[in-house]
Amino acid sequence: MRSIQAETERSWIELNIENLKHNVKILTEAMPSKCELMAVVKAEAYGHGACKISTILNKMGIKAFAVATIEEGIQLRKNGIRGEILILGYTNIKRASDLEKFDLIQTLIDFEYAKTLNSQNFAVKVHIKIDTGMHRLGFSCKEVLAVKKVFEMKNLKICGIYTHLCCTDSLMPDDIAFTRKQIDNFYRLIDDLKDGKVNIPKVHIQSSYGLLNYPDLTCNYIRVGIALYGVLSSPNDDTNLKLDLRPVLSLKSRVVSIRQVNKGDSVGYGRDFVAERDSRIAIIPIGYGDGFPRNLSNGNGRVLVNSHIVPIVGRICMDQLSIDITDVQGVSTGDIATLIGAEEYDDLSASAVAYRSGSISNELLCRMGARLPVITKSDVI
Ligand SMILES: *Cc1c(COP(=O)(O)O)cnc(C)c1O
Repeated sequence: MRSIQAETERSWIELNIENLKHNVKILTEAMPSKCELMAVVKAEAYGHGACKISTILNKMGIKAFAVATIEEGIQLRKNGIRGEILILGYTNIKRASDLEKFDLIQTLIDFEYAKTLNSQNFAVKVHIKIDTGMHRLGFSCKEVLAVKKVFEMKNLKICGIYTHLCCTDSLMPDDIAFTRKQIDNFYRLIDDLKDGKVNIPKVHIQSSYGLLNYPDLTCNYIRVGIALYGVLSSPNDDTNLKLDLRPVLSLKSRVVSIRQVNKGDSVGYGRDFVAERDSRIAIIPIGYGDGFPRNLSNGNGRVLVNSHIVPIVGRICMDQLSIDITDVQGVSTGDIATLIGAEEYDDLSASAVAYRSGSISNELLCRMGARLPVITKSDVI
């Protein structure tokens, strides 16, 4: 392992584990008493590092995890994660033996898939996905007979049944009505199964916004992703529950060079930025190759340096970007520049930065990390 000093030479993701623990506590308290938190750690735990985050959560007593792919599930097992690991997405049937080998739970995405998985000569754990209106994966909520048949398949150990809501982040009356309909559809199916003498396994419906806006549902799990990492998808999202969630991730880099440019000089590709005055420009070694969105170029993005927020100037490159520090005194090479997550500046929250880049924090966060080292806050010197 490289030393922390080496990890923080260029650009890095810094995790605040105290905030993660705080979020787990706040979210768990907000959930009905018999409901368990299923930590969604797909896409490297939204860029935070799946093994690191899951290990901490496991130690805190979290026993249910969700991932998107079988490889993500295997990676967790190889790193000693215990408890249940649910694969939310499709797994090729050729990989079925790995489901058993690594004790992973597969989502049944439709009836064909269930039949094929059942035709193997070994048993696997599954959750049945029900499509209540999103029309992505799952059995239609009207397919009661098909779902009943799945409960009779001998090689499928059915541990759960769930649905996914598609507009819980909105408090518009139409969207609330749609969500209520999804929830009703799901429970109607559950009631029909009960009438058919089916033993109902663990039930789950909500993800982060499902909890924040429909906290009264009583399920066995809530699949919490973005809220666990302490941010909302978009800034100013109104929610029924207002929880004191704290951001886990910050994105930091260092000033590597400071240069004087004269009025009329341009900076960067395409000469997009032309100095209107004699200016001081600092070069920060982070770019879209690190997952930092290129459309934050030309003043659309901002950076915190020496307690001042300054604009990104010119086009963001693959590996570096430029900021205008003309108005800030005392910046030196080696100084830390914060691009996401300085808690005292709302403007640099993941959701605000994502919003400026035309996206949501979920996408912004999970795109990072391929090249950036992930370190924990207490390690930084
Ligand atoms: C990603 C995902 C989640 C987590 O969503 P958040 O909004 O991040 O909490 C929950 N359920 C399913 C099916 C998902 O794909």
